Amino acid sequence: MRIPEQKVEEILHSADIVDMIGQHVQLRKRGKNYVGLCPFHNEKTPSFTVNQDKQIFYCFGCQEGGNIYKFLMNYKKISYVEAIQEVAADLGITIDYEENRSGVLSETEILYEINEEAARFFSNNLLKNAEGERAKIYFDSRKIKIATIRSFGLGYALTKRDALVDYFVAKKIDINKAIELGLIGRSEKGALYDRFYNRLIFPIFSPNGRVIAFAGRVFETSENMAKYLNSPESKVYFKGRILYGLSHSKEEIRKLNSAILVEGYMDLISLHQYGVKNVVAVSGTSLTDDQVQLLSRYTKNVVLLFDADNAGVKASMRSIEILLKQDMNIKIVSLPSGEDPDSFVQKFGKDEFVNQINRAQNFMEFQFSIYEAQGKFADPVTSAETIRELIKPIGLITDELKRSMLIKSLAEKFNLREKLLETETEKILKKIEIDAKRTNTSPNTKAALELIEQDVSKREKELKPVIRVEKELIQFLLDGNPKVIDYIFSQIDLDDFYLLEHHKIAALIYDIYKEENYFNVNSLLSKLEEDNLQKYCLELSIEKYRVSDKWDSKHVVEKDKNSLKHLNDVIKKFKLFPLEQRMKEVLAEMKQTADEKSQLDLMKENTELSKEKKLIEQKYS
Ligand SMILES: [Zn+2]
Repeated sequence: MRIPEQKVEEILHSADIVDMIGQHVQLRKRGKNYVGLCPFHNEKTPSFTVNQDKQIFYCFGCQEGGNIYKFLMNYKKISYVEAIQEVAADLGITIDYEENRSGVLSETEILYEINEEAARFFSNNLLKNAEGERAKIYFDSRKIKIATIRSFGLGYALTKRDALVDYFVAKKIDINKAIELGLIGRSEKGALYDRFYNRLIFPIFSPNGRVIAFAGRVFETSENMAKYLNSPESKVYFKGRILYGLSHSKEEIRKLNSAILVEGYMDLISLHQYGVKNVVAVSGTSLTDDQVQLLSRYTKNVVLLFDADNAGVKASMRSIEILLKQDMNIKIVSLPSGEDPDSFVQKFGKDEFVNQINRAQNFMEFQFSIYEAQGKFADPVTSAETIRELIKPIGLITDELKRSMLIKSLAEKFNLREKLLETETEKILKKIEIDAKRTNTSPNTKAALELIEQDVSKREKELKPVIRVEKELIQFLLDGNPKVIDYIFSQIDLDDFYLLEHHKIAALIYDIYKEENYFNVNSLLSKLEEDNLQKYCLELSIEKYRVSDKWDSKHVVEKDKNSLKHLNDVIKKFKLFPLEQRMKEVLAEMKQTADEKSQLDLMKENTELSKEKKLIEQKYS
């Protein structure tokens, strides 16, 4: 199943990036651009910019950028193909898939299909193979019903070491791709074997319900064997970006505007079976920023439900900080000791479970009771330290009102002056700000620019002015106005660009324009392989209208009106640069040489150069 390349372009051209991003991010018009608060990093003033003419977005804060497909991939954590399908669905365009010809679907779609084939194999082992009986017995002992097994695609990996290999060979599946997905392994001698064998299988789904990976659980847990074996990361599976169960829970989470976060697969599956369906599981990793970002698409309200043991408490504490950074509202449930969500719901049923959820503590009460149990408030010294610990997470909250309310309740609790706590919070905020600035001043694009400029470090000083001029020329090209592109290429030779990267970009623009008689940034981005160059071009394309209050629309119009004059000015500077450089050299040489003949030659050259300079000045004035 592939989407023809042509169709991908057609869908891209029919879509409107402002419309589509506007469904997820509140945008307002600012000059030629639309701006809003970036969904990819936390910010208070908008640096997330969408340009309708060029159909691209770019964030000046975190350097995320690209076309609408790129946006959806990152925003919804979905694959390229799914992004195309999403845009097509939004526009009501039907996609006719190709069976065999090459197209963009190939790579990832093949991987999905192999995963789905493997999931079918594991599921049949459990449900239809005699050997699967022991897996059925296991799930039965955990009170998991057949309907639940089917709904979550649970399966069984046979004890035979190459059962899946045989199955894949019979199905003519590309074994190398199966190796890439971590389903099959190859020994040093070249023998193929199943990586999952003698295990219970939990398929891991993308938010859209595609199988992207597997977790295999051993039957008997023992000291020297990990309980779970997970698929490695692959082109379709990014560990820290996936929440287990979201595919099954997202509607309910949206409906209830709340999500329960649990630790394990079995917790989630068990809760689902008991009718608690707004659950996601972290599973396999500790909670990541990406996972929280993903969850925040569905709700801002999270109930943490981790085990009551030490590891669970530690995981909760860590998760609180990550959740607060993204302005999530957090509540925490501490189950009676010895219970996990699975055992609790089985023993006490759904209603009692929901009662527990409704009695959830806010995160400060939770932290306080943990510290209290650890005896941290026993003497004044540890007490002061602990209060500081309690304030730390408050500093992570960007919402000022929320912050001051929490400070107030903390002050009441300890009978402390609010002012004192505010000062402490301020200190923490400052530190966070400094850390943020530190990461902001060395972002990828700037690093890319630095790298680019490092390449010419020897001639850096003398080349700097002309590189700035080149940058402006590239900006004019990136604007995509055919008249401007024609004009620039009629005046300037591609080989005249000093910076290798600028030459590369200009040459690509030239090729695309010659071939299609049309150019926009999007067609360039797909042809630029280096991530740094892509970001560089995105930044240059939007930089002219960079978000700033001074840039009202009037300003931009005026700049456009004068653009031919401005362009000529840039070309003039570009052409004069080598002449002026040479003139400087000639003058220096004249001072140094005593030889009359050489002197005369240099004077002649100087006159020639002056004439040429005058011609260029006249031509581009
Ligand atoms: Zn951003």
